[in-house]
Amino acid sequence: MKYISTKANDAITIEEALFSGTSKGGGLYMPESIPKIQAEDFKKFNNFQEFSYQLLSYFFVGSTIEDDLEGIVNNSLNFPVIHRDISEDQSHYSVLELFHGPTAAFKDFGARFLASLMSTILRKTNRSDLYTILVATSGDTGGAVASAFYQRPEFRVAVLFPEGRVSPRQQHQLTCWGKNITSLAVKGEFDDCQRLVKEAFNNPELSLKHNLCSANSINIGRLLPQTTYYAWSSIKYQKTTGLPSSFIIPTGNLGNAFACFIAKEMGFPIDRIIFATNANKTIPDFLATKEWSPRPTLPTLASAMDVGNPSNMERFFYQYQDTDKLLSVLESFSVGDNEIKDQIRYQYEKNQVAICPHTATAFHTYRNLPASYLEGSHWTLVATAHPAKFENIVEPIINVELEIPENLKTLMALESSAKRIEPRLEHLTSYLS
Ligand SMILES: *Cc1c(COP(=O)(O)O)cnc(C)c1O
Repeated sequence: MKYISTKANDAITIEEALFSGTSKGGGLYMPESIPKIQAEDFKKFNNFQEFSYQLLSYFFVGSTIEDDLEGIVNNSLNFPVIHRDISEDQSHYSVLELFHGPTAAFKDFGARFLASLMSTILRKTNRSDLYTILVATSGDTGGAVASAFYQRPEFRVAVLFPEGRVSPRQQHQLTCWGKNITSLAVKGEFDDCQRLVKEAFNNPELSLKHNLCSANSINIGRLLPQTTYYAWSSIKYQKTTGLPSSFIIPTGNLGNAFACFIAKEMGFPIDRIIFATNANKTIPDFLATKEWSPRPTLPTLASAMDVGNPSNMERFFYQYQDTDKLLSVLESFSVGDNEIKDQIRYQYEKNQVAICPHTATAFHTYRNLPASYLEGSHWTLVATAHPAKFENIVEPIINVELEIPENLKTLMALESSAKRIEPRLEHLTSYLS
């Protein structure tokens, strides 16, 4: 399997795609073709790791780590994927809980797989130079990447996050590492962090000197493992209900949602895919106006989705080529902060389930779907983070102190520290040497 850039016609290996992040001209890497599977062949698996290994193996055919893939899957996707089935009034739906990894958000899937994959590649090729991972985060990516690469001797990591825009527990998770992880609090927005990382990558001298590589959701190595839980979930419900699944996905930079499209393209029984955004409605506006107009980010309660210029849209444009075709497959709704609060309150009162502000956008979207949408699909709402990560938002709304899961407790017990920087490249580079 070769990988090609959305901006240039250079077919490269997965190893190269993983380490370069973006291609020249700002393109993102894509598999040269999406493998097609028979859903029937996947019904026999009762174990998520075995299922995921089978699925991911198509993307690694002919690569140097083909034989290591099973081990990589087993030691990185090694935490539970939980379905919670809910019956409410006349409707039945399920919640796909993706937050049972070490940092309690779905980003653990991509980050852990990527880290294990990259380490394996470097070990196998006897490369001894140090690689620097630059990661811009609107909250959860940084914690997941830091955790995944922590104490891996081949890497050091610089995590850039927008100061004051992440919850206290999130901030702790971004800054509690030390050793090979440097946490940088940027005086600006997530977009400033992302721009800084891009500037560093686009600077050939810096890239070379530090062996820069990316672990953001633009990295294909993070995207691929995210296909597994959509595929797994859709097969599970096809077996029990006979229906395809439709997903509502809390969306920011579109990495998680794009992975769901890959799973659908592969042939898994997936029907509608709806992106729930917060007040950053670049995507819903695109659907309404047919004009793609990225804009500055607005701060919202669902801060990990505060993205005004979703990078992975590039992959959608590439995959669908013509705008009308693309518009015909995309569905997206914007959810405001008041609606997020209402859903957190309502879900707790109605079902005694606490949800995080990101997940609340999916609930709002589900509860406002036209009735005709509910037929013919099994609906699944994607729960992207544990509510206890956003205690400052969730607790005052439901008036209950949330129990902190064990994985988070472990991190909260560590000391934390961050360096503050201006959103300028020279300030970032001063921490790289
Ligand atoms: C990152 C994140 C999102 C958005 O995911 P994208 O892949 O950027 O669209 C949603 N919810 C939570 C909790 C996140 O951490």
